[in-house]
Amino acid sequence: MDFRIAEEHLAVVESVEKFSRNEMLPLARELDEKSEFSMPLWKKMGALGYPGLLAGQKYGGSELGALGTTMALEAAGRGGADQGTLLSWAAHMVISMLNVEHWGSEAQNQKYLPKMATGEWIGAMALTEPNAGSDASSVTTSATLRGDKYILNGTKMFITNGPICDVVVVITRSEAGSKGANGTTAFIVDKSMPGWFSSRKLDKMGLRASPTGELVFENCEVPVENVLGQVGMGIKSVAFSGVNWERTILAGHFLGGMEFNLEQCIRYAKERVQFGRPIASFQAIQHKIVDMAADIEAIKVLLYRQAWMIDNNIPCIKETSLTKAIIGGMMLRNADEAIQIFGGYGLCKEYPVERFYRDWKLASIGGGTNEVNRDIAARFLLK
Ligand SMILES: Cc1cc2nc3c(=O)[nH]c(=O)nc-3n(C[C@H](O)[C@H](O)[C@H](O)COP(=O)(O)OP(=O)(O)OC[C@H]3O[C@@H](n4cnc5c(N)ncnc54)[C@H](O)[C@@H]3O)c2cc1C
Repeated sequence: MDFRIAEEHLAVVESVEKFSRNEMLPLARELDEKSEFSMPLWKKMGALGYPGLLAGQKYGGSELGALGTTMALEAAGRGGADQGTLLSWAAHMVISMLNVEHWGSEAQNQKYLPKMATGEWIGAMALTEPNAGSDASSVTTSATLRGDKYILNGTKMFITNGPICDVVVVITRSEAGSKGANGTTAFIVDKSMPGWFSSRKLDKMGLRASPTGELVFENCEVPVENVLGQVGMGIKSVAFSGVNWERTILAGHFLGGMEFNLEQCIRYAKERVQFGRPIASFQAIQHKIVDMAADIEAIKVLLYRQAWMIDNNIPCIKETSLTKAIIGGMMLRNADEAIQIFGGYGLCKEYPVERFYRDWKLASIGGGTNEVNRDIAARFLLK
């Protein structure tokens, strides 16, 4: 395994970290408090080509691959950007754009990807429904063919970027009466198509700058040319093909956030004096810092390995589900120790450590819960 990336990709990673420290970190607390996705910030990111880091160069992207994009998001987290903005950015690239690029026709890719690579259009992916979460194959949002259009009806839940998206990849049940993953079809739906809207933005405990919402489709008219991939294969091909990417790249910004958080802890422990000496001199505090650093190193190696496997076309569902099953817990332990190092100040919003405690809970839920990922991993281990 070789975790080195091309020089020009490394330059992008470095520029992302600098941008994060200079432009994103100063806004982090405010965006969390206001529960706001900053469009001016997104526009700046767009001008630098950041929304297109993963996309192919022929569509205006930087083609960083899984490893390079994971490292870029890690760099953004390490720079101190708020984790919500990073989640929205990652979802745009990984679960929206990448699905279009992998499954879209050349005409679809040309129509959507260049505008998404500059951030002019924001993307989302809508699989989950109010009654179809872990059991994603039980989706009921219907797609009925009428003439040269499909008519979509149903509600999607917990959609990252739902309240702000211009384009959404929607997974529907296109064969009435079908069960499970069979008879499902993916569509690219954009703002020009009537009959869909964001009915509400969810008020979350963490990742508050990432708008998560409910999307309603009411007789939404989607032209047949907007079927993504094969009819009847929406879950089996489009939705499932991206899980390794999602479980790797989206975790990159959490990893970077852990590195930022550790940096805060080390600085604070050296400055905070109790009993006449810095708390960093107490072995109990030193051990916490060592445990945090060890978790970070372990997560980094796991994520880089699976990103490398993706880039080298090596199947890695066992690896990604094993990693996903445990890193949510490691992140929460890290966030907990960070607050403990800060003592009472750790609970206060003037320090960023409390925010991570709220933000990282998602890592055990989104993109497949810890429990579901353990089930997937168990199938490999016990077959
Ligand atoms: C902030 C956020 C952003 C999200 N973004 C998106 C998005 O962009 N697009 C999208 O489509 N979805 C998105 N989701 C949805 C996410 O993928 C689901 O929340 C997740 O799959 C879990 O589904 P659920 O919340 O309905 O929980 P449920 O499936 O109802 O699970 C509840 C509990 O039961 C457990 N459970 C369920 N089934 C089993 C089983 N078979 N064995 C053992 N335990 C089980 C779960 O592990 C969990 O602990 C997002 C969610 C959040 C919170």
